[in-house]
Amino acid sequence: MPELPEVEVVKRGFEKALADRSGAVLITRFEFLRKDLRDVIPVKKFEKLQGSQLLKIARRAKYLIFTTNLGEFISHLGMTGSWRRQSSIGDQRPHDHIRIHFLVDGISESWVYHDPRRFGIFDFLDGKTQAQRLGHLGPEPLLEQFTGEYLWQSLRQRSSAIKTAIMDQKVVVGVGNIYASEALFQAGIRPSLRAQKITQIQAQKLVAAIKKTLLQAIEAGGSTISDFKSTENQSGYFQAQHQVYGRAGEECRVCGSRIKVAVTAGRSTFWCLRCQR
Ligand SMILES: [Zn+2]
Repeated sequence: MPELPEVEVVKRGFEKALADRSGAVLITRFEFLRKDLRDVIPVKKFEKLQGSQLLKIARRAKYLIFTTNLGEFISHLGMTGSWRRQSSIGDQRPHDHIRIHFLVDGISESWVYHDPRRFGIFDFLDGKTQAQRLGHLGPEPLLEQFTGEYLWQSLRQRSSAIKTAIMDQKVVVGVGNIYASEALFQAGIRPSLRAQKITQIQAQKLVAAIKKTLLQAIEAGGSTISDFKSTENQSGYFQAQHQVYGRAGEECRVCGSRIKVAVTAGRSTFWCLRCQR
């Protein structure tokens, strides 16, 4: 499943190709090869955006937000979604669902949304969808407002495991299973520790570890887990650097102990008994 780093990599891919140009970027046409993903796509409304100017591409949690002079729309990659720049006219694949045609500095360019399982979202961002989808989200992990003090305060009333707590979107957005396991390892905190029991120092270490883990993954182009492909069609290689995730039974790279795994609620948690006390 694409997690925050993968979505950030996609956003940067779009920016590099579109937003960082000197001239205007126009959306000339939306082409819907299918009219539904997780929900029905409001095709008629999208048609009204044809001819609009793309002003900005942003990311909030795992949503890509496209701002045009006529309105905002969002893309969420769901379980298996990806965007790619269409390299040639004949480049069409099964499970391609949406094509956006742009005019960039007077040159045509197309981007294709591909999603075999169709859990993605492609919708407008208006008052209603904003409240529904983005209204209850916690801070962005990479922004300054996500501090050790903030995390410590927001966990004081929580009796759940620390790993569950940092994966809660109300606490902080975009820390999925892989990055939660990796950050807890880096911070030396056992995943099953009750959230309310972490000390202020541990909270600081954990926040630093979350930021570092996510930034490393973004640098590496996202993980290769699932069907993720960045917009440049290159798989990320963060997976090769995982310290604990997916390494059950293998030796800890720090102390040599065997990495443990436990499965709760369908999610695997990986940790080192000796490094994470
Ligand atoms: Zn270890």
